[in-house]
Amino acid sequence: MRTCAKELVYFRQRNSDRKSYTERIYRLFTGYLAGHGLRLTGQRRLILDYFLKADRHLSREDIYTALRRHGIGRATVFRTLKMMEKCKLVDHVVGMAGKPRFEVNIERPHHDHLICINCGRIQEVRWPKLEAIQEETCRKIGFTPNWHHHEIFGWCRDCSRKK
Ligand SMILES: [Zn+2]
Ligand SMILES: [Zn+2]
Repeated sequence: MRTCAKELVYFRQRNSDRKSYTERIYRLFTGYLAGHGLRLTGQRRLILDYFLKADRHLSREDIYTALRRHGIGRATVFRTLKMMEKCKLVDHVVGMAGKPRFEVNIERPHHDHLICINCGRIQEVRWPKLEAIQEETCRKIGFTPNWHHHEIFGWCRDCSRKK
């Protein structure tokens, strides 16, 4: 079963500049919606707020389950996430069985993910040496990298112990 441990390691601290961070995210999303003739409705706001409070990678089902008492349906969660991805506010991490999980991606350093196939926990890792090797290899063959995701699937420390 999923643990509740904090997953988003490389996340901005909840300190004094947290408020302006939240405001920048709101401005970005509101601007994106306006550009498409849409508004930040109460439901979209609830989904965004839920994201900003989350300390782990969220599946569509997590969001739906948490917010359905507000009358938010699966289709709204699906569409809102699509829009949040389009404006690069959130990114998705491919989880188990192809089920994506999402994380806020604004002003966070690049990181990759270790995914436990037993409990589903996702750990964030940074590999500066690996990043440098990738960049060098791309440069050598004249490839311009745009983005990448590394996902390593396996057993987390807790689950390995219980094996
Ligand atoms: Zn595990
Ligand atoms: Zn992450």
